[in-house]
This record gives sequence, structure tokens and C-alpha cells, in this order.
Amino acid sequence: MKCGNCGARLHRVHRSFLERFQFLAIYSCPECSIEQCVPHSYRYRFGPFARCSRCGTARLTRLKKPDHIDRMRGGAWDLLERLIGGKIVHCRYCRLQFYDRRPLVSEKALDQAQETDSSEL
Ligand SMILES: [Zn+2]
Ligand SMILES: [Zn+2]
Repeated sequence: MKCGNCGARLHRVHRSFLERFQFLAIYSCPECSIEQCVPHSYRYRFGPFARCSRCGTARLTRLKKPDHIDRMRGGAWDLLERLIGGKIVHCRYCRLQFYDRRPLVSEKALDQAQETDSSEL
């Protein structure tokens, strides 16, 4: 990580308890003392549709069972999603699988008589 302002190497700053929930990491520049915060990808975890937490795409596909080749996202969140009835979805861009209980955009689009099909992407 380099400072976007002066290009100096950034130092990682210790996060407070609250900041741990907000940011993945906080860096500060020793030269100009600018702080740069790296947010968690939590924003992709809220909202009406399933989204890939890595690249943010909503263009996911459902898997009937876990794929043994592609990676499975791990962690407490996924365990929780799985426990509350999340279904396995797959991001073809990241080749990542994870559990999500929200509908896919494609499924929602089908519900709405496919009229919004051409509006996105
Ligand atoms: Zn700097
Ligand atoms: Zn992705």
C-alpha cells in the first residue's frame, strides 16, 4: 500500500473496536499523515439480491451442490447464512462459492416478466 498523495509507504494503524467492524484495515502515511481506510465488503452483504462479496457482481448462478474445484468462501458469516437456510451460489468471475439466502437478480427479473432485462449491462 502506497500513499495516494505522496507515494510513501503506508503504515498500518491499529483499529479501535468499532473500526474493526467498519474497516478491513486502516493505513496512515508517515509523510503527510493522511489516513486511508479499507472498507469491508459488507456493503455487498446487504441489499435485496445475492452478490459476490469479492467483486460485487449480482450475476451469480446457483449450484445444486458444492463444486469441488472452485473455492468455497469460509468464515462465520457463511456458516450463519448456511444455518439460516442460505443456498449455495457461485460467482463465475471469481470462481468462488458461497452461501446466500437472498434471491438472485436473474430470478427476480424472471418474476417481473423479464421487462427489465435490457436495462442493466
Ligand atoms: Zn503521503
Ligand atoms: Zn465475484
